[in-house]
Amino acid sequence: MTDIESKTSGIPPEQLGLNSKFKFNCHKGVKCFTKCCRGIDIMLTPYDILTMRKKLDLTSEEFLAVFTDPQILEKAELPIVTLKLLDDERKSCPFVEDKDGCAIYEDRPTTCRYYPLGVGSLSYSGEKGEKDEFFFTVKEDHCLGFEEDKVWAISEWREDQGVDLRDKVNDGWMELIVRKKSLPPSMKLTEQSKKMFFMVCYNIDKFKAFVFKSSFLDKYDIPQVTVKAIKEDDIKLLEFGFEWLNATFYSTGQETFKVKEKK
Ligand code: SF4
Ligand code: SF4
Repeated sequence: MTDIESKTSGIPPEQLGLNSKFKFNCHKGVKCFTKCCRGIDIMLTPYDILTMRKKLDLTSEEFLAVFTDPQILEKAELPIVTLKLLDDERKSCPFVEDKDGCAIYEDRPTTCRYYPLGVGSLSYSGEKGEKDEFFFTVKEDHCLGFEEDKVWAISEWREDQGVDLRDKVNDGWMELIVRKKSLPPSMKLTEQSKKMFFMVCYNIDKFKAFVFKSSFLDKYDIPQVTVKAIKEDDIKLLEFGFEWLNATFYSTGQETFKVKEKK
């Protein structure tokens, strides 16, 4: 997830921790059912794309072409993708159904799972890999879920919505973004580096071909056990890609990517 600012009043949102509580419930019976699935801005995470394209039986290239809009993330100046909305009057999400709600509910994006929570990061401690996150409620006028009686701790909501695993996989992506944001504006990535970032994070099939069909494995001394794991498991390939980008952009974890000695 990314730093998100309050979408409502401009007043800084109250920062919440994992044990903080909030009152909310969302179900088919609320009068506003599916209102939050229209006219929205949903940034897709790398893990979202892995699961959504699998659900839709598409390649990552096809998924990107049909369901996403490319954007540039402010401050980080890195390419990201958002979910492409339908060109109808209500700017609907392509997966929303008036009566039944989300047609891909089990594989819905991370942002939809978090809602009505936002998450921000205060800092990233670099070498230790520690995050300093906070959460906040996004109270939009159309959302009547705050009038319901159910009380959640933030940690309970996260577990219920299945965001823990997603955040764990996406951590390497977040690290790349937060590190880039913390660099002075004069330190820019080359266009080639940005293309690499896009390929690894959003076009996993292309990255797989890059690793296994280019000279990548001739250049780097990658253990066979890792090669086997990333060949068989796209999540491991994605995490490997984040590590490679972090090593290439920011010189971290370079021991994983030792260049082979020439014979
Ligand atoms: S993906 Fe599902 S939950 Fe998310 S906006 Fe679309 S319909 Fe709503
Ligand atoms: S607007 Fe709020 S309460 Fe209504 S369906 Fe969306 S998340 Fe649930």
